[in-house]
Amino acid sequence: MVKQKGQSAHQKMDLQYPTSVCWICNRCASCCKDQPDHERRIMMLKTEADKVSRFANLRLNQFSTKLKNAEPYVRVMKKKNGTCLFLKNSQCLIYPIRPLTCQCYPFSFVYKNNLAVFKLTDEPCPGLGQGKPLRKIFFTKLFDTVYTKLELVHGH
Ligand code: SF4
Ligand code: SF4
Repeated sequence: MVKQKGQSAHQKMDLQYPTSVCWICNRCASCCKDQPDHERRIMMLKTEADKVSRFANLRLNQFSTKLKNAEPYVRVMKKKNGTCLFLKNSQCLIYPIRPLTCQCYPFSFVYKNNLAVFKLTDEPCPGLGQGKPLRKIFFTKLFDTVYTKLELVHGH
């Protein structure tokens, strides 16, 4: 795990991320489904859920349910037969506006007291172990995306 100052919109933040993780997404869509030993929870910020609602022309409760005690996330995606409602023919129908939970996978993210931490989930992702180790720039860019969305939530 490396701890360094971020280098863009969030220069005052410290960024922690795992080193020596090789990963390339092969678009297998496993992270859009429950696995035999793991229930996938696709959590959403309020702003994300509202955006999906407008984009897909669906009411919130047609594609998600309320989530309690999971701040900043407030909704969780509904699934059909264990698969996200927006996965069709192995493609995400809302890819440009997919939630952070999907954008960050296979990493989870926490952000507290000027410290941003990316951790590798313990869920299976076939892309892990592929390609070269991810560099700082990967996490910096991902953090920019996360920060921008959370900034909207917290109104920094
Ligand atoms: S499970 Fe991993 S490799 Fe497959 S789509 Fe998700 S992130 Fe990509
Ligand atoms: S929103 Fe898209 S990327 Fe996220 S779980 Fe659903 S289909 Fe997969």
